[in-house]
Amino acid sequence: MPNISLAPRVVNLKPSVTIAFMNRAKAMKAQGLDVLSFAAGEPDFDTPRAIKDSAIEALLAGQTKYMPTLGDPETRRVIAEKFTKENGIPGLTADHITIGSGGKHSLYVLCHVLFDFPKAGQPQQECVLPVPAWVSYAPLVELAGGKIVEVPTTVKTGFKASAEQIKAAITPRTRMVILNSPSNPCGTMYSPDELKAIAKVCAEAAATIAPDLVILSDELYEKIVYGGIAHFSIGSDPSVAERTITLNGLSKAYGMTGWRVGYTAMPGEFGKKFTNAMSTLQGQMSTNITSFVYPAIRTALTKCSADVEMMRKAFAARADVINARLSKVPKVVNAKATGAFYAFPDVSAYFGTTSKGGKPINSALDMCNALLDEALVAFVPGEDFGGCGKNHVRISFACSEDQINKGMDRFEKFLAELK
Ligand code: PLP
Repeated sequence: MPNISLAPRVVNLKPSVTIAFMNRAKAMKAQGLDVLSFAAGEPDFDTPRAIKDSAIEALLAGQTKYMPTLGDPETRRVIAEKFTKENGIPGLTADHITIGSGGKHSLYVLCHVLFDFPKAGQPQQECVLPVPAWVSYAPLVELAGGKIVEVPTTVKTGFKASAEQIKAAITPRTRMVILNSPSNPCGTMYSPDELKAIAKVCAEAAATIAPDLVILSDELYEKIVYGGIAHFSIGSDPSVAERTITLNGLSKAYGMTGWRVGYTAMPGEFGKKFTNAMSTLQGQMSTNITSFVYPAIRTALTKCSADVEMMRKAFAARADVINARLSKVPKVVNAKATGAFYAFPDVSAYFGTTSKGGKPINSALDMCNALLDEALVAFVPGEDFGGCGKNHVRISFACSEDQINKGMDRFEKFLAELK
């Protein structure tokens, strides 16, 4: 092999642990093993037919050429209307909307629009992140030159950071505060009052010590709520509306993970500047998303509420099953899932034991490896989600109630056999 090097930024980039476990489970299934996978962060529902038909019609009608980088004006208008009507975000027009190839891509682009590497002698810009958090935030912020400032949370408080904690983490170098409700991996949600209190401390900090502060509110799971807590968009709070980017997309609510559709909204004059910067960068990076997908976005957002409700109800029933099962597992501590489709129990009481197959269990990673090898159940170890995540495993319950019950039977047996 020739002696050629790769860029350190990619050599040092952590691969996703979720994808690693998902792939291992798939490979074992392909060998004929009866693996029950709870690893993938995607709904098991197919995309509703009306959405598929809209894309097929546009494709057959020849909508196959380059389009405006951030999307056609009509689709951006429909998205602005969604954020205005459903989320109460004030002052939005199509000019404040960006459309990218999935929420993850939009997040990548926006990080590069807001963060930069410091000049010599200057401090790094900071990103306040309550942890445990989705595995991609930290790498994407760091790739753009930002530094993560973790705000630790615990299972006892439903993995929520308090306004006081956020306030204490903000410094003159704070560029971004990331909030994710409902949460991946925690499956919990902030109440409207908790978010309003966080808005207040962010507005105060922005007016005093952190003028460059922007809130990133990741609301990918907004439609999957069932715990009696109303979804609230912090960008609807007038005190922070013009410094909040709301991130959303079609992946989770519409069974469209493979389509790759994400979008952002940021109102106001700076919002327009931000949106134009997103266009400049995305224009050099990927241009528009797949052109015949735009009509499908409009169909999803305006005609598919019944499909979304059907999926929400299914997730609610599954959450009831897993919440009830986990509450009965000895020594496992679980915060009741109220949104998204994840449970994130603390399993650390079992560290220091040995599995039936003789594997030492000293971490969440050890437990997930042994559980997959010996009980054929794929959970995701919590280490990479940060903070107390190292004591937890993530269980994605985007699968049938029957599979949840079978998986929990095997998990309980596995734990009971630890020595
Ligand atoms: N935000 C959160 C919290 C997620 O869990 C995910 C995907 O797992 C995303 C954003 C990005 O989703 P997508 O790129 O499919 O839109």
